[in-house]
Amino acid sequence: MDNKIKSMFSPIRAWKYLMRTPVTIAKKDIFVNPREASERYRGFHQNDMTKCIGCGTCSEICPTAAINLVPVEGIVHEDGKLDERPAFDYGRCSFCGLCVDICTSDSLNMSKEYLHLSIDADSFYFMPDSSGIHKTSAKVGYTRDEISELLDLVRQEMQHEDESRRSSFIEIVKGYAALDAKNEAARCVACGICTNTCPANMHIPEYIRAVFDEDLKEGIRQIYKTNPLANVCGRICTHKCETVCAIGHRGEPVAIRWLKRYIVDNADATDYNDAAQESVTAPVNGKVAVVGSGPAGLSCAYYLRTLGYEVVVFESQALPGGVIRYGGPQYRLPEESVLKDIGVIENAGVTFKCSTKVGVDITLDELRDSFDAVFLGTGFSLSRPLKIPGYDHEDVQYAIPFLAQTRDYIREIGPMPDVAEKVTVIGGGNVAFDVARTLIRLQEIKYGKSFVQMASLEDSEHLPADLEELEEGLEEGLHGYFAYGPMAVKVEDGKIKGLEVKKVLSIFDEEGRFNPSYDEHDVKLLESSQVYMAIGQMPEYAYFNDEMRDELLTKRGQIAVTDGGQVESYPWLFAGGDIVRGPDIINGVATGHDSAKAIDNYLQSKK
Ligand code: SF4
Ligand code: SF4
Repeated sequence: MDNKIKSMFSPIRAWKYLMRTPVTIAKKDIFVNPREASERYRGFHQNDMTKCIGCGTCSEICPTAAINLVPVEGIVHEDGKLDERPAFDYGRCSFCGLCVDICTSDSLNMSKEYLHLSIDADSFYFMPDSSGIHKTSAKVGYTRDEISELLDLVRQEMQHEDESRRSSFIEIVKGYAALDAKNEAARCVACGICTNTCPANMHIPEYIRAVFDEDLKEGIRQIYKTNPLANVCGRICTHKCETVCAIGHRGEPVAIRWLKRYIVDNADATDYNDAAQESVTAPVNGKVAVVGSGPAGLSCAYYLRTLGYEVVVFESQALPGGVIRYGGPQYRLPEESVLKDIGVIENAGVTFKCSTKVGVDITLDELRDSFDAVFLGTGFSLSRPLKIPGYDHEDVQYAIPFLAQTRDYIREIGPMPDVAEKVTVIGGGNVAFDVARTLIRLQEIKYGKSFVQMASLEDSEHLPADLEELEEGLEEGLHGYFAYGPMAVKVEDGKIKGLEVKKVLSIFDEEGRFNPSYDEHDVKLLESSQVYMAIGQMPEYAYFNDEMRDELLTKRGQIAVTDGGQVESYPWLFAGGDIVRGPDIINGVATGHDSAKAIDNYLQSKK
């Protein structure tokens, strides 16, 4: 039979199918009582809005461009989250599930819901929450499993010096090799959440990208846009950025600080200098005095120079750098790193007048008369005493002068601090660990052994210090008495016998006020012939006259300023760093940069 005859009979042949059992079943109540989809069905999306951080990684990976990050009405900004959330276009979605596989916060999955009938095309474009497309909380279908994991959740390991490090001041963290750095950079999903949390708003995804692209000159360029202390921050920044890293929700956060360090340690010297100096512009008319050469002063001075101003930095110590030169210990922050950062700032044309204390060698009024604006970045430069019995004994030492003296000893311009064989440190913050771990090293050098105890109000899980300080301190042989409060420095025959401590039951009272309570039956004497106090720092305002002191200081010893650090009643005066915000290095860098911009606005507005 030829094809013509076949087609003549085909309508009649179709009738025979009427007698057969249908393959596709028309379920009349399908919308009321739908058949459940199979396990791991890829239906409409559900997104747990309490977990979603708006990182946008789902949108980035989507091969059909079906996901857009859109503003959400009434959303309250939270640190560690962006303000937009993903909306899905089912005209484009191919239900591949890649968005679920890569979701950083584990908030996104696909439901077993597969029915949606509407003549409103807009209803196929919606922002899912946990109740899905029809607000009915359909059962969960497809979720990510081990095989479909797309993120690299484990950090590239960092090499450290072993425990023998405790008898030297050699730098502990060795830094990444090129391949490790590239692999670590590849873990970043470039969401930028870290940038929002960094006090200096550093261009983090951009410089991480530069590591991945092996373009370290570009990395330096990105870093110097917001931070001229890259070597210092690459080592001792408090890395608040890492606490919010998107990858940290399911794994280890990207090693942002170590990647910054990789860039500054490995960029070619000429590239480094060229990129760091690139933004220094032609001179403009204006002269600014910066008081203090710590992080805030250095940052303000550098950015004022990039804007073309003449800048003179007044520093009371013999060398510039403040806390980064005299505070942070060498094993965490080598001298060469500090010199490299200060060198860039000097090369940019900033002048330093060291061994010149404002308020003693030159007054604030004299600075006001000789300069167009003055920036104060004097920091919290004094150790705070704890006035327990015996605190005024000559063998009670303080963190700031002790650390400064040790740095001079390592620089071979000062004597070794007079360290006893048995010592106790009071405090539980990073500075207390700096003191304790420095003491261990000095004892090892002097006596060939060490015995350092630490007493802190907080228990080991609630110490203000970074966890790595605790771990490394214990590794180095530190004896920790955590949750033991200092009661008295015990003195016998004119010599310190030890520190008396009591077990802490609670630090705050029911109203949340600082009011420690103790177990009167758990009292110890931590035998030692020296006690080191490291319970906090305070500012020194020798340069203010009484009137300014009364007018400007707030309760916490900081200066009240407007945005950009300007002092309202003295518009020529600006302030930043610990005396305004912090205390930490990156807040110093950020406030110094903000003030440089504000000083520029002020001086330009006067023209
Ligand atoms: S990847 Fe996850 S956390 Fe990020 S925006 Fe998408 S749903 Fe939210
Ligand atoms: S480092 Fe973390 S938070 Fe920052 S851009 Fe990369 S993934 Fe996002």
